[in-house]
Amino acid sequence: MLYPKIILKPGKELPVLRFHPWIFSGAISSVSENLTDGDIAEVFSSKGKYLATGHFQNSSIAVKIFTYKQQEISNDFWYNRLAQAYALRRKLNLVSNPVTNCYRLVHNEGDLLPGLIIDIYDETAVIQAHSTGMHRLRETISDALSRLYGIHLKGIYDKSAESLYKNSGIKTENCWLSGGGNDVIAVENGCKFSIDIEGGQKTGFFLDQRENRAKTARYAEGKKVLNMFSYTGGFSVYALKAGAQLVESVDSSAPACRLAERNVSLNGIDSSRHRAISADARKYLENMEQAAFDMIILDPPAFAKNTASRHNAIRGYSALNTIALQKIAAGGILFTFSCSQVVTREQFNAAVAAAAIESGRRVQILEQLGQAGDHPVNIFQPESEYLKGLILSVE
Ligand code: SAH
Repeated sequence: MLYPKIILKPGKELPVLRFHPWIFSGAISSVSENLTDGDIAEVFSSKGKYLATGHFQNSSIAVKIFTYKQQEISNDFWYNRLAQAYALRRKLNLVSNPVTNCYRLVHNEGDLLPGLIIDIYDETAVIQAHSTGMHRLRETISDALSRLYGIHLKGIYDKSAESLYKNSGIKTENCWLSGGGNDVIAVENGCKFSIDIEGGQKTGFFLDQRENRAKTARYAEGKKVLNMFSYTGGFSVYALKAGAQLVESVDSSAPACRLAERNVSLNGIDSSRHRAISADARKYLENMEQAAFDMIILDPPAFAKNTASRHNAIRGYSALNTIALQKIAAGGILFTFSCSQVVTREQFNAAVAAAAIESGRRVQILEQLGQAGDHPVNIFQPESEYLKGLILSVE
């Protein structure tokens, strides 16, 4: 035994044997004395068989597993994991790509690094720990990143304060672990975005929508586009570059709207074709004129954070989509998304189908969308496929 021990109740080893990366507190029979949040622990079946190693946290998800092989967890272990993640992004043609310099290097359970997110924006890395165990490792991870990228990394920012507080109630400060430089210009499929690393939401940008933003370009030419929940104008810039007649970006965050305007001008787009409006989505949709837009994008924040709020979330998606379907011009295109992990694709599609009935419009599904490949889905944890989307044609 290399680390403190966690012993499961009889029969509770089954999900682990199927490589699910979490152990819930209810499955645990006993733990070694003095085991504290963030400690590395080894998990055993009730019969004493080694099953996995992971980070312990005194919460409903008690262990987040990062290996199923009994071994010493050295600095090299973490470096090798990061190197594997890097190799995958290389395979996805995201490394040294002249038209895209931002991508997710580490995506939680999808890269068998549960509790850890690392996003790369040009020569800046942003680390976001969701568990105490990963946060404790921030210096090790920062060193591994420097080893991996060498001179191509100028700054590493730890932006874990919010994510760690939400997940473990621990208060920390965000800080630069090495270098600095808050203002970064990220390039995504040739579109430029100014990223506010320190002040922006999440790590600064929503990289999971890269491929879906690119798809807007296919439909946007000549259209009047409403980008609802626009944040810093990601979908707006793509639509404008693709020849949209007019784009309105609507978001409740005023700073995000200012950045959206900045991003439009950064791409050399005439600002008369774009308006950024800071408003509540629901109110804006209710008050807007019928048929004012022939393309609408709905990319709301997660409506459900846990299973308890799933039912309300599904009703929320249904209500939001109903108004958009009622208001969109005939022959319109609706891009609609859910990023709630606990709402399945089937549930989301059903919520949109209910909205289609309610709206009385004829609706066809053109494409089903998901998260970009640098947000890989852990095949043994279906719920890690969190982003679902539809492109709809509305008559
Ligand atoms: N589509 C964006 C990401 C959207 S994230 C992109 O491609 O980058 C969700 C956004 O919804 C956030 O910017 C948040 O500020 C905004 N938001 C949250 N609640 C809102 C509300 N009630 N009305 C309008 N915007 C809201």
